[in-house]
Amino acid sequence: MPDLNIPSVVPNQIAGHEQPAASGQTFAKLDPANGREVCRVARSAAADVDAAVAAARAAQPAWGATTVVRRGEILRGIAILMQQHREALAALVARETGKSLKDARSETDAAIEMGFFVAGEGRRFYGRTTTSAAPNKAAFVMRQPLGVAGLIIAANTPIANVAWKAFPALLCGNGAVMKASEDTPLSAWAFGVLAKEAGVPDGVYNTVHGFGEEAGAPLVEHAGVDIVSFTGSTSVGRWIAETTGRRLAKTCLELGGKNPLLVCDDADLASAVTWTIGSAFSNAGQRCAAGSRIIVFDGVYDRFKAMLVEATGALKVGCADTDDFGPVINEEQLTAMLAAVERARAAGAVVLTGGVRLTDGPHRGGFFVAPTLIEGAGGGDDISRVELFGPITCLYRVHDFEEAVRLANDTPYGLTASIHTRSLHRAMAFIGRIQAGVAVVNGGTYGSEPHMPFGGLRQSGNGWREAGTEALDVYSDLKTVYVNHDPSAV
Ligand code: NAD
Repeated sequence: MPDLNIPSVVPNQIAGHEQPAASGQTFAKLDPANGREVCRVARSAAADVDAAVAAARAAQPAWGATTVVRRGEILRGIAILMQQHREALAALVARETGKSLKDARSETDAAIEMGFFVAGEGRRFYGRTTTSAAPNKAAFVMRQPLGVAGLIIAANTPIANVAWKAFPALLCGNGAVMKASEDTPLSAWAFGVLAKEAGVPDGVYNTVHGFGEEAGAPLVEHAGVDIVSFTGSTSVGRWIAETTGRRLAKTCLELGGKNPLLVCDDADLASAVTWTIGSAFSNAGQRCAAGSRIIVFDGVYDRFKAMLVEATGALKVGCADTDDFGPVINEEQLTAMLAAVERARAAGAVVLTGGVRLTDGPHRGGFFVAPTLIEGAGGGDDISRVELFGPITCLYRVHDFEEAVRLANDTPYGLTASIHTRSLHRAMAFIGRIQAGVAVVNGGTYGSEPHMPFGGLRQSGNGWREAGTEALDVYSDLKTVYVNHDPSAV
């Protein structure tokens, strides 16, 4: 029976062993709900990354030679264990992020679903059979592992972020080293515990904890890492691409967003308000797919704004299941997003509601930001272009569809986008013209299903897609095969 109680020091998991950082150093993991220390965490550096990569390299050939059906069965075992330990996993997610248990449970369920989806791919794992120009010659394409995958993730949906990378990386036959977010070490550690319990051979899957520059950068720079798969900010993603580009290592970047949600003059306004609230504020706005630019037609702007302000005012911020969203992940991010709101205000934007830290009663000591609505910012202003990753969204007034689409596409990003309209033609025109990896009609900018690809254009990524069978393209390479089965007669 695996023990998922919070350890006093969250250890690294290398070659099947839990161990402290080689330096013996630790750092404090704070509870975003109250700012108090939850536990300490191994503060890893290059030596720990070296050991983890060496373990993965040593274990990978046998794992890669295991049939993919068998690998899928072992991964299914992890998903089953995650189901059995759902409450414990959700409790860890809630504790390390401050989100409610309800939200942590649904995130855990999403991670489990990803496990089952990917495990099932072990019985498909399709290549391509085709024909040859020559007789007595077979031609087909199959997948092969890359080697060692370096996986680096953000803190916003921690167990789901682990699942989105670990399951497909392992299914494809790679060894892996996970660098968890320094803000969310617990669920990543728990996943490692369950992976071992499920029978993933020692060394195949390793986890190191620590800060980005100390533990993440050595993984990116490591010559023994064949693919780096990163979910995080665009600025770090750019550095990673430059670094891995020098040794031509495959690199999958899932980065930020500044996602538009259009409200047309024929929209169901009540529904549009509900989806706007979910897009902007669920998970405290800490989503790459958060709706941070709400683009509203002139004809319904004032009515929609009044409804949205009222609905925003009714939101409850806290960690209980009856609350709408919890704290942001750390004080540094909180300070940065509130500073951005102040700069917008100084530049002439109007803060309709929020824009402050909540410090009263149950919020004392925690990293809570009031749900924030801003209007009057220009499309070129910083607040309109820079991702804030918090419960902050901006309203824009436009004349018509043309202006709405132009503004929606006027962004350095291109991750998700949504339109609210009753016009099928408008919806189809939007789908055709919006420059985004995900387009939604009459829904939120967020929400993705495990069997569907997810990713974005421009500075939201570098062209790869996670989830779906497309994730297998990230973690495997192709081998083109010719078989002359009667060489004398080819
Ligand atoms: P971040 O880039 O600061 O950190 C993400 C991870 O990278 C952490 O584990 C961190 O330790 C590590 N890291 C930081 N510097 C590093 C370096 N020099 N080398 C290697 N690793 C390094 O991002 P964050 O603030 O933690 O997360 C929020 C960002 O993640 C947002 O931009 C959000 O949009 C993005 N995100 C994207 C997706 C997606 O699928 N597109 C999903 C979730 C989050």
